[in-house]
Amino acid sequence: MILQNVHIVGDEAAVNIQMSDGKIAEISDTVLTDDNLTLTFKDALIFPGLINSHDHLDFNLFSPLGNRTYRNYTEWGNYIHKEYKNEIAGVLKIPIALRSEWGVYKNLICGVTTVVNHGERSRLVDPLITIFEDSHCLHSVHFEKYWKLKLNNPLKKDIPVNIHIGEGDDYLSFTEINKLIQYNLLKRGLIGIHAVSMSAEQAEKFEAIVWCPESNYFLLNKTARVDELEKHTKILFGTDSTLTGSWDIWEHLRLARKTGMLTDEKLYRSLNQNPADTWGLNSGSITLGKNADLVVAGRRPGKSSYDAFYKITPEDIQLVVHKGEIRLFDECLLPQLHENQSEGYSRVFLNDTCKYVKGDLPVLIRKIRAYQPDVCFPVTLNEPAQL
Ligand SMILES: [Zn+2]
Repeated sequence: MILQNVHIVGDEAAVNIQMSDGKIAEISDTVLTDDNLTLTFKDALIFPGLINSHDHLDFNLFSPLGNRTYRNYTEWGNYIHKEYKNEIAGVLKIPIALRSEWGVYKNLICGVTTVVNHGERSRLVDPLITIFEDSHCLHSVHFEKYWKLKLNNPLKKDIPVNIHIGEGDDYLSFTEINKLIQYNLLKRGLIGIHAVSMSAEQAEKFEAIVWCPESNYFLLNKTARVDELEKHTKILFGTDSTLTGSWDIWEHLRLARKTGMLTDEKLYRSLNQNPADTWGLNSGSITLGKNADLVVAGRRPGKSSYDAFYKITPEDIQLVVHKGEIRLFDECLLPQLHENQSEGYSRVFLNDTCKYVKGDLPVLIRKIRAYQPDVCFPVTLNEPAQL
């Protein structure tokens, strides 16, 4: 497959990219030929499929729960289990496989091709994007039973620990970070999620932290000082689940950009190269030999590359390729595909745009609604009425 006339984010010139065997095989400014499929774009940006370094795939059918700010995650957790008992029970009665499958679509529709799933393994077979589950997930110092024992399990010594940490704006959240560092007797690689109350000195002890600004503002009206922390550790980007924020990672990114704490380029890297290095993925850059995890989106005219990137909405996404396979395409590409190449996709609508996604999303939505009729989805199954 060849993608023609696409502009790589951060570089203004148009290129043509060829993929073969799931990898990026050629990047050229001259015309390439391929007898399988060539897609030609106009005013389009291309970037490595986003890497969402923190989500709970099975929690994305919730609406955000909470109605004020909290001192820390334990206060929020106890509050929602008391105040939103029925809402929580209503979602949890939907089988976990269906919830997780929707979690994959939530990410895919936004152009995420790798998601780091926190918690139990999802057990999905042949997922449409990479679900990274090869770290050792501990929930948190307060909610993970026997965390000290688990942290010091010698059999897991070489696997990095992936843990919620410092998710609060109080002394407790700060001191729990010291506790974790102090009890990390095997000096395991630590990847800390949230790190809102983390100091620069504490950050030195972490391989990376996952910044989830929207979730943090929702819970605490405060976020991690990534402008300081980035001098001491790697910054990765995460959405967390819809329990604490929008389904749309692009809204999270615009909020992150607005804080001004990372340059456009550094924020961009938190979505591709930094997480690829941290999680050990062969993706995250448009380079020969890397996995062909690529996203193409329409570019608004007159914008610089990063400006255009951070203005993207899921509606703008024209193509998502995962390991060389098309997982989503916009209706505008349909005339360029051969007849049999659109088989196995289902049509869904995102406001006034029509997307083809791999698999049967309408059936999944109907199955979920059979358990819980009032679940809201950002996509609709019927064509929007013409005005
Ligand atoms: Zn989380």
